[in-house]
Amino acid sequence: MFIVIMGPPGSGKGTQAKILSETYNIPHISSGDIFRQAMTLNDEMSIELKKAINQGHLVSDELTNKIIARRLSQKDCQSGFVLDGYPRTVSQAKALDTMLKDNNQKIDRVVNLYVDYRVIMERLKKRLFCKSCGSSYNSVTNPPKSSGICDQCGSELYTRTDDNSNTVEERIEVYDKVTKPVLEFYSKKGLLCTIQGNVPVEVATKSIVDCLEEKSF
Ligand SMILES: [Zn+2]
Repeated sequence: MFIVIMGPPGSGKGTQAKILSETYNIPHISSGDIFRQAMTLNDEMSIELKKAINQGHLVSDELTNKIIARRLSQKDCQSGFVLDGYPRTVSQAKALDTMLKDNNQKIDRVVNLYVDYRVIMERLKKRLFCKSCGSSYNSVTNPPKSSGICDQCGSELYTRTDDNSNTVEERIEVYDKVTKPVLEFYSKKGLLCTIQGNVPVEVATKSIVDCLEEKSF
């Protein structure tokens, strides 16, 4: 199953991507992870990437596409993936179609997690992270078993400082502006399913799985 998952910061996108990855036994391809990993390498693409980032430039679609294409050409992606954080522009979405077409593959579904902005703000303020293992929680929708303590490793949880509402508002505005055309692109192809994200994690997962398996669409 070839899935793209989209949603603004705080929509629970990362959590759902991880669950889908486990459910369908396909890799969770996060563009953020791929970029971070590429920054540690010393090949041609990584050097170009570091140069753009160090000079404070936006990473071009062309370079982004190349870096993603390299990851998607790996063996573990050949029977599917959950793509998270890419494509972010229509040009990237078209490039993705071409990459897949070259392999006789195509996107099966684009999952759009919709959450009301005010709800996202409240939700982001309630996010908790583990200092040690990087696990994330939400004090309302996905609380740790014991308050303030990581289920995985027992370390103390903290709130991210950039989760204050001003930054959040800006991030959402940028997200909305940038991705709206991408959502329209996939909607026209009949691939888009919009899922209400403002519900408990397992309820959103069920809606996503129903949509992926075309029980409701
Ligand atoms: Zn932990």
